[in-house]
Amino acid sequence: RKSWTDSEFNAALKNAYEKYKDYKEGANANYIPELDKVDPELFGLAIVTVDGKIFSAGDLNTEVSIQSISKVFTMARVVEDSGALEVLEKVGVDATGMVFNSIIAIEMNKGKEINPLVNPGAIATTSLVKGNTYDEKWNMIKSTYDDFAGRKLGIDQPVYESEAATNQRNQAIAMLLNAYGRMYFDPIETTDIYTKQCAVAVNAKDLAIMAATLANGGTNPVTKKKVVSYQTVAHVIPVMATAGLYDDSGQWIYNVGLPGKSGVGGGIIAFYPGQFGIAVISPRLDAAGNSVRAQESIKHIVAELGSNPFYVQ
Ligand code: GLN
Repeated sequence: RKSWTDSEFNAALKNAYEKYKDYKEGANANYIPELDKVDPELFGLAIVTVDGKIFSAGDLNTEVSIQSISKVFTMARVVEDSGALEVLEKVGVDATGMVFNSIIAIEMNKGKEINPLVNPGAIATTSLVKGNTYDEKWNMIKSTYDDFAGRKLGIDQPVYESEAATNQRNQAIAMLLNAYGRMYFDPIETTDIYTKQCAVAVNAKDLAIMAATLANGGTNPVTKKKVVSYQTVAHVIPVMATAGLYDDSGQWIYNVGLPGKSGVGGGIIAFYPGQFGIAVISPRLDAAGNSVRAQESIKHIVAELGSNPFYVQ
């Protein structure tokens, strides 16, 4: 199936919402103290097509911190500005198969064979963003996210401050990469930029538009602005497909067939290249750090739409 009617998209979202609205599996992230305070009942679902149509169910307006979903868009920025080889050679594109903030994953290969969608590779990727200062890099990152979403996004300041005060592990990751010559800007400043990018506030509609921009080859289907090239997107997709849900990425692609990315704020995005982007926000996570209800809902929606691209009839 490569085309769906408006009522099919609406029905798939509504059915997933009804099926999972009372679902309570998992628990909020609590290693970042502020995330534990987010309303665990929050449940928003949205689909945006490559022709800019928006469909939704549940809560479309409440914002959460983007967290690791940000990693996709920082990677896209670096590939766009410095080329696909930059990420391949200076960060890596191999799934670690380990938890997202694994130190063993760095140690095993002396900082190599990691990827931009887990913390070590993401922090290294943030260090590669163009700019000579903290502010220049940050502005590049923030304006990229704004372009993907099609509006000026805010920062969840309490989440940023809460994580900045407790992110010694990410600082250690950055320092260890630095020791292996695999960090490309000051490690502590880079960790702070990374922490701030994770605190960017988004709702389900923002995330679905960001995902739809990827589905649309890098052009925002709502604002029509070309954010990155289709060649850049083509290099982001395989990393999402193999490492977007951390150590559960295999199960994800096995069940859903769509490149996806999760964040510990409770969001998951996925997209069908050339067709649509989808996003679900629901803060309760499983042991890998992926929203349980978002995974279940997207699985349900993809099954109902028959939109697993690996199904070739
Ligand atoms: N900011 C979070 C961290 O570095 C992001 C992790 C995530 O969403 N998996 O731990």
